[in-house]
Amino acid sequence: MSDTIFHKIIRREIPADIVYEDEHLIAFRDIAPQAPVHVLFVPKTDVATLNDLKPSQADVIGRLTLAAAEYARQQGFAEDGYRVVMNCNGHGGQTVFQVHLHLVAGAPLGRFGT
Ligand code: IMP
Repeated sequence: MSDTIFHKIIRREIPADIVYEDEHLIAFRDIAPQAPVHVLFVPKTDVATLNDLKPSQADVIGRLTLAAAEYARQQGFAEDGYRVVMNCNGHGGQTVFQVHLHLVAGAPLGRFGT
């Protein structure tokens, strides 16, 4: 297993505010939230960046997306809306090299890129 800060959270070596976990993934609140709701969905399968994702691993990303949508439904903000983002490498702003999906919500977010 790789050794990013997210792997340490998965292994319970450092604390996190975990909101969901199953055999495939873990979700916890971002330590520096960019919106009232900011949760990270992280697979337990090692994939450093989207560039490393194999076609046979499509389910890894599918599960993150479905878990985020289900969390939005359960928390009651699905109808108001939300944003999911995955950053890749330097220009994408990726800082932790285990793929993850950001779920941000809780306020109007503005149009992406403006
Ligand atoms: P990236 O920039 O897309 O790689 O996203 C990494 C995210 O991880 C950032 O939004 C950070 O605020 C967040 N982060 C870094 N360390 C921790 C932590 O220990 N707990 C929760 N979130 C973290």
